[in-house]
Amino acid sequence: MEEDLSGIEPCLLWRHFDELRKIPRCSKREERAAEYVLAVGRRMGLDCGMDGAGNVLLRKGATAGREGSRAVLLQAHLDMVCEKDRGSDHDFSRDPILVRVDDGFVSAVGTTLGADNGIGVAAALAVLADPGAVHGPLELLFTVDEEEGMSGARAVQGGQIAARMMINLDTDDPHAVYVGCAGGETSNLRIPMRWDRPDPAGASAFEVVVGGLSGGHSGVDIHLQRGNAIKLLGLLLWAAGERVFPGLSSLRGGEKHNAIPREAEAVVVVPREEAEAFSSLVEAEARALREEYRAVDPGLWVEVSAVEMPARVASLEAGDRPRRPPPERGPPVEPRDPRPRGDLDEPLRRLHRGGGPLPPNGLPIVVEGRPRGDDRHHPGGGGPGRRPGREGGPLSRAAPRPRL
Ligand SMILES: [Zn+2]
Repeated sequence: MEEDLSGIEPCLLWRHFDELRKIPRCSKREERAAEYVLAVGRRMGLDCGMDGAGNVLLRKGATAGREGSRAVLLQAHLDMVCEKDRGSDHDFSRDPILVRVDDGFVSAVGTTLGADNGIGVAAALAVLADPGAVHGPLELLFTVDEEEGMSGARAVQGGQIAARMMINLDTDDPHAVYVGCAGGETSNLRIPMRWDRPDPAGASAFEVVVGGLSGGHSGVDIHLQRGNAIKLLGLLLWAAGERVFPGLSSLRGGEKHNAIPREAEAVVVVPREEAEAFSSLVEAEARALREEYRAVDPGLWVEVSAVEMPARVASLEAGDRPRRPPPERGPPVEPRDPRPRGDLDEPLRRLHRGGGPLPPNGLPIVVEGRPRGDDRHHPGGGGPGRRPGREGGPLSRAAPRPRL
């Protein structure tokens, strides 16, 4: 299923997003997305440049009467998190992101949407093209590799930038301004293992898979208390291990360092006479987990299946086994309001719906609803391809956070 997003309002923005989602742009492979924004700048006769890291900078002069205003930098990143559902044959190096529009929301089919930060790139480009936009000197900086180390942002030379004011467009709450940020850290742990060859006559092998979790961004969704597939898998094996200790042959989970893992799988070996007990212990623990996470991860599933005997299994002596009992199951996790905040949006919403003036000092971009009777900033009015009956609806808002 593929839908065309270019007709959604505001179409100056969605047209660019629709082009960007067709361009492969995983971190460190942003060349074609960089070429796209450069081409937009060149077509408009702007001052365009690319630095050694692959970041692109476009400069547009002030509009008439605003020459004396201070320059503003709009910044967004070109790369996206490339994640797909298990079983999807999407090729991120080649395939466009397939999208659908449901109930006023744009989402991707089987993959991440790339709204982080395609919508920021599209928003910046939309400002360039909006003949009603009133602004001082503008600089647009599109960085690379934001999702996997920020090598692009690190390489930016201060001297390239004239603006001393920057609006970073990488966020997901309209009308919200962030004044702090979280850091990230990568840890590499090495645990020396001794390996044994399992005895196929006296042992059974199982694959335990945890999946169906909601996932999310490790930074902005972490307070939602969603399950982490790797941790839940650990809990399952730990709980079963109190009675039937599984020998671990392999364990993998998660895809990206900034995505809450949605799936994890392990291959374990147990003594043959305890095979049945092991699977029912895992199943009992899975039931408890599903209950605990039913509100935040309603799709959580656990699968235990017999598999072929692996070639090796971690060798643990009695003293190596965890001595603590597994942690007690807590009460069900309560869902939290994903957007805890005051009614900051409400006055703006009323202003826009009621056709009042745009907020003072605000950039002339209507994120939500279009001011009626004042199309000065938005030539084209309803515009071609405008979907009826959706004024001020979710479609005019920034795309929802992609499912990671
Ligand atoms: Zn981002």
